[in-house]
Amino acid sequence: MNITRIIDREQRFGANNYSPLPVAISRAQGVWVEDCDGKRYLDMMSAYSAVSHGHAHPRIVAAAIAQLQKVSVVSRAFHSETLGHFLEALCEIAGFEAALPMNSGAEAVETAIKAARRWGYRVKGIARDKARIVTATDNFHGRTTTIVGFSTEPQYKDGFGPFSDGFDTATFGDIDSFRAAIGPDTCAVLIEPIQGEAGIRVPPQGFLRQLRELCDATNTLLILDEIQSGLGRTGKTFAFEHEGIRPDGLIVGKALGGGILPVSAFIADHALMDLFDAGSHGSTFGGNPLAAAVGLEALRVLEDEQLAQNSAELGAYLQQRLREMAVPFVRHIRGRGLWVGIELDRPARPYCEALMALGVLAKETHETVLRIAPPLCISREELDWGLERIQQVLLG
Ligand SMILES: *Cc1c(COP(=O)(O)O)cnc(C)c1O
Repeated sequence: MNITRIIDREQRFGANNYSPLPVAISRAQGVWVEDCDGKRYLDMMSAYSAVSHGHAHPRIVAAAIAQLQKVSVVSRAFHSETLGHFLEALCEIAGFEAALPMNSGAEAVETAIKAARRWGYRVKGIARDKARIVTATDNFHGRTTTIVGFSTEPQYKDGFGPFSDGFDTATFGDIDSFRAAIGPDTCAVLIEPIQGEAGIRVPPQGFLRQLRELCDATNTLLILDEIQSGLGRTGKTFAFEHEGIRPDGLIVGKALGGGILPVSAFIADHALMDLFDAGSHGSTFGGNPLAAAVGLEALRVLEDEQLAQNSAELGAYLQQRLREMAVPFVRHIRGRGLWVGIELDRPARPYCEALMALGVLAKETHETVLRIAPPLCISREELDWGLERIQQVLLG
């Protein structure tokens, strides 16, 4: 089908809440996607980390098909054979005692907010409805009205208020700002260890460790949103491992769905998780047998194929190659693992369009940042293929 007709139909019957590049993908395998005319592209975007395993990973697809033929949805009104296995694997890989499965990332963030507030009232002893959560400037935690309410990005919240109370803002990467923002009614700090949507912003070395100490000293929970940074993206299974800390609550999503389904979870030890009792929280689709089977296989593939290690090795190589290009209008190159932001002194969109013409899909974030985040299964040869085209586009 013709590309303009595909785009016209989407625009006619859809909402305009995205501005996609003019490419219509009809199939994909591994790091490669194909448009409806059969043109191939290297995916250097991986659906914001949702496709960290690569497209249509044979083992994950097989696990999905096998589960589809058995049972997909039962709701949490009943037990299912697969859920416990998935939760056990998730707890093991994250190093926690319990996990609560949801679907989208935003729902898992909402789950974390509920857990933190209950802990604030029932354990810390904060007066009823007074609990506060400290979040960071330029955060991205999803799109519910509660979550955009504590965003500092006007675009995300304009016209969507009134917003819920109970959130404070501290400057990302600035420990003194967090110290000033935490008060006696603060139940938690909620933060991305590396900010993805803000443009792959890495905090100063030691910041997370300082934040951990600050939370301990003030009896405050540290909750990390690793929806985009987690499951190998930064070169470790979780970004918090880079600083040798452990949060009190961990939020995962995106790659947990193995590139085929939305699967998310809030993870904590029982002391925190058990504040949820029957009827206090739920999700019709959360932890359904299909999602559990896919999530379980996604975790196994992550370990078997050592995707975090590949991300560390090729990520270092990627950054080094990008720096060597010495592009005059590049302001800053940053990131960890196969997750790199190239900050330009000008809009990044035209460069994304030029890359697209050469067969590389990447997307700008925050206008001036070119985000390079291929599936973690990418090989060095494939990465070189992409780098050659990036160089061509940036240096002409
Ligand atoms: C994408 C993302 C979310 C929201 O996930 P959805 O599945 O889109 O709801 C939350 N937090 C972070 C850090 C993300 O990158």
